[in-house]
Amino acid sequence: MLKIHYDADASLAPLAGKRIAVLGYGSQGRAQALNLRDSGLEVRVGLRPESWSRGLAEDDGLEVLETGEAAAQADVITILLPDELQPAAYERSIRPSLRRGKTLLFSHGFNIRFGRIQPPEGVDVVMVAPKSPGHLLRRVFKDGGGVPALLAVHQDASGHAAQTALAYAKGIGSTRAGVIETTFPEETETDLFGEQAVLCGGLTSLIQAGFETLVEAGYQPEIAYFECVHEMKLIVDLIYEGGLAAMRHSISNTAEYGDLTRGPRVIGPEVRARMGQLLEEIRAGRFADEFTSPGTPRKLEDLRKKQAALQIEQVGKGLREMMAWLPETGGRKAAAAPEPRPEAVEV
Ligand code: NDP
Ligand code: MG
Repeated sequence: MLKIHYDADASLAPLAGKRIAVLGYGSQGRAQALNLRDSGLEVRVGLRPESWSRGLAEDDGLEVLETGEAAAQADVITILLPDELQPAAYERSIRPSLRRGKTLLFSHGFNIRFGRIQPPEGVDVVMVAPKSPGHLLRRVFKDGGGVPALLAVHQDASGHAAQTALAYAKGIGSTRAGVIETTFPEETETDLFGEQAVLCGGLTSLIQAGFETLVEAGYQPEIAYFECVHEMKLIVDLIYEGGLAAMRHSISNTAEYGDLTRGPRVIGPEVRARMGQLLEEIRAGRFADEFTSPGTPRKLEDLRKKQAALQIEQVGKGLREMMAWLPETGGRKAAAAPEPRPEAVEV
């Protein structure tokens, strides 16, 4: 049964007098560290010596230590490094000082679920996963609210691992919205599936296939872009605010009839079967093996280059110049050098 915790059921007491090390100062690291600090908890940031985020953390008024030093001094160690870099950082900077009674905290279950990090007995291993990017976690907190989070316990050595995690969730503001209990496998498998099949992979392939179908049929690419890309936000905003019904309420009867009768033909039984295959690959660990194999960073770079060259991206670049209201974000991943991230500005 669904278990949700709110502010009233949560206390910061389990973290009183405890030292928290937030390792990494990116999207999640910065937001979580600042929210915890503003909740009155003792937070330090752990970064590698050459880290470009160091100045940002210091400007935010936080003490920054080398990753291993921060982990060694802490009671609660939050690992907010990119998932693929966590195992090496764990071996080098965390494991040597990991003692009985400490808590290891993740915001995504990947490395625990797929056995890439295997913490020793005696250590609590928990997850607090905010369901939003870091800049939103921070902004909503500053406005007095919180974003919902998921909470899970992988290893309860102390007997109070869940209370520690719940206190942490309160510290980042998430109990103000609601914290839902899950497990490491459930969070990891559904998160990967969602981003592959629906949110990122499914959506971008759907957009691209629609755009190319129109262009190949001889329509102007700019018109195809408006119909298959630009208007997506209007639809998604409506779904976000009021579910599928609210979106269908706002569109014309023509659009709604087309939606209800043609949508299931686009995403038919074959697509559902392939979604099932993706889920199976995830659960069997085959996606994790592929993602963490040595050739992947190179492959990812090649794929990014190919995508950037697509007509849909070129056409979009031109059209977006007409839209003076759009924020000037290039997307940090598009940049070759580590530039300040879009979300770094408004925290
Ligand atoms: P980012 O890529 O935004 O930030 C990573 C941070 O780690 C940077 O500060 C980077 O700094 C630092 N870093 C990289 N390598 C090392 C290293 N070897 N040692 C120490 N620091 C290092 O990560 P995210 O915040 O996106 O993701 C962190 C975790 O949060 C992941 O587990 C992710 O799955 C999870 N998560 C992310 C969400 C999101 O919206 N982004 C949402 C929910 C969960 P530098 O490179 O300067 O050293
Ligand atoms: Mg996700």
